[in-house]
Formats: sequence, structure tokens, C-alpha cells
Amino acid sequence: MTTPIDTEGGSAMSDRWYQQQAKSIHGRDGAIEFDDVPLVSAGGDRGAYVQAWVWVDDPDPDDVGPIFILGEEPTTCPQCGSRTDFDENDDDTQSHRCLNRDCGFDFLGVFDDDDDAEPVAT
Ligand SMILES: [Zn+2]
Repeated sequence: MTTPIDTEGGSAMSDRWYQQQAKSIHGRDGAIEFDDVPLVSAGGDRGAYVQAWVWVDDPDPDDVGPIFILGEEPTTCPQCGSRTDFDENDDDTQSHRCLNRDCGFDFLGVFDDDDDAEPVAT
């Protein structure tokens, strides 16, 4: 005897079903990617969250200037070695200007990120 699934009380389908649905509905190569067996988090509503990776491009150097990783030491100009002035940006980057008037080099400083996630293998 088969028992009808109670679909009122939350996720009714198998993890595998949600994983396949997520990949076929939302997957876009290079934009929204899934691990081979993505995590599934059952919801209180009918359905489930499926873990995905979304791609984010680096900023365009034409817009922000060249990008340099900021170190522990006070930042100096990559061109001439002089000290720089900078503004903190909302996105956790710094817009630097070389204080050497003969140089005036502008660049974007980004903080090094130690907890790099493994790239998605597809
Ligand atoms: Zn400079």
C-alpha cells in the first residue's frame, strides 16, 4: 500500500530531486554552477534550498584602474614607491592616489583573502 506524501508540512521530495530541479531550472554555465552533489536545505515551506555558486567578475580596469593587493605594510605607489592617499570604498576596497606630484598614479587596492574557496569543477 502506498501512502500519499504530505506536502503541507515542508519538503516532500528527495534531495536528489531538488538537486536535479535546481540544475535544470537555474543552472547557467559560467554564471550559476552547482557542485556534483550540492547541499540541500529543507525548508518549512514546500520546497528546499539547493546550494549554488554564482560567478562574479572582477571590476573592469577601465573603470577602477589597475588593481593591487594590499599588504600589512603601509601602501606605497607601485610606480614610484611614494606614500599614497586613499579613500575607503563601500565594497572593502581602497582607491589610492600617489602623493608624488610627478607621478600621481591611481590604483585600486584590495585586501588579500586567505579563505579562498576551491574553484568549481564542472
Ligand atoms: Zn607614484
